[in-house]
Amino acid sequence: MKVSGNTQIFGIIGCPIEHSKSPVMHNAAFEALGLPAVYVPFSVRPEDLGKATLALRALNISGVNVTVPHKGAVIEFLDELDPIAKQIGAVNTIVLRNRKLYGYNTDGPGFMLSLRKDAHFEPLGKKAVVLGAGGAAAAVAMTLAGAGLRRLVIANRDKRRAEVLSKRVQKFFDREALAVGLDEVRALYWLIRESDLLVNATSVGLNPKDRLNLNPNSFHPKLLVFDVVSQETALVKAARKKGLKAIDGVGMLVSQGARSFEIFTGKRAPFRVMKTAVEQAIKYHR
Ligand code: NDP
Repeated sequence: MKVSGNTQIFGIIGCPIEHSKSPVMHNAAFEALGLPAVYVPFSVRPEDLGKATLALRALNISGVNVTVPHKGAVIEFLDELDPIAKQIGAVNTIVLRNRKLYGYNTDGPGFMLSLRKDAHFEPLGKKAVVLGAGGAAAAVAMTLAGAGLRRLVIANRDKRRAEVLSKRVQKFFDREALAVGLDEVRALYWLIRESDLLVNATSVGLNPKDRLNLNPNSFHPKLLVFDVVSQETALVKAARKKGLKAIDGVGMLVSQGARSFEIFTGKRAPFRVMKTAVEQAIKYHR
């Protein structure tokens, strides 16, 4: 695309950022609609988050996505929060409008869309275990609770964070929400056996060498495994090998990206174009 003085600038802030497929996805969408805009990755260290966020206004950057590990911490630098972001307590989309920074969260809606479309799973009356208590886990947990889940278990390496998130779910939705440590293995397996859905919302799997200390061989055959990491993680691979239905995070990535694109531009997102761009980028990096 030809960059000129009128080109609108969008991007993504995170650390690390090199793995992100958002630049190819959004640039493909801008190109498909012929919009004078570019989307660039910004590697922002945690200690620079405040300065980087305030610089969006100074540099007239139209909007950014926010990824690991900034989704919660970025909130204090924003002027306004949309109700979904407020409820989740995390922001993955920032837009500059009239010199004000507005924060949104499209991870929750993106997760739900993929859960329904790719897995044909309806949470109403079901039980789920969510691994993780960061920004993605909060989006998944609050969205599942809002969709009528009967019981939610949050399992996290740092159990205190799981407790904070489960209390947040109870406060907003009055649902049964339990917290366990990822190392409380016996309790965790028992709770997974009792559940219909297991979601990995930790960042384990982002590096293909990392794996969770969970063995799908002891999962029941009707359990749906959903991993928000947008590649085939060790968990997804092992679950599929055992014959379970297992969904990776690619559908969620495209759905949340499409929603962000609509917030950025006010135009309908070219979903197919965005999905193809992501799939090609994943194939290229394999
Ligand atoms: P955060 O940094 O907010 O949270 C990270 C979570 O992962 C925490 O719960 C943390 O536990 C846990 N964790 C990290 N390392 C380990 C480990 N070695 N063992 C066990 N647990 C670990 O990140 P986000 O919540 O924003 O993102 C999490 C993942 O979700 C990322 O891989 C991200 O790419 C993916 N994601 C995918 C999306 C999609 O559209 N497909 C959308 C959003 C996110 P602790 O609290 O103990 O540190």
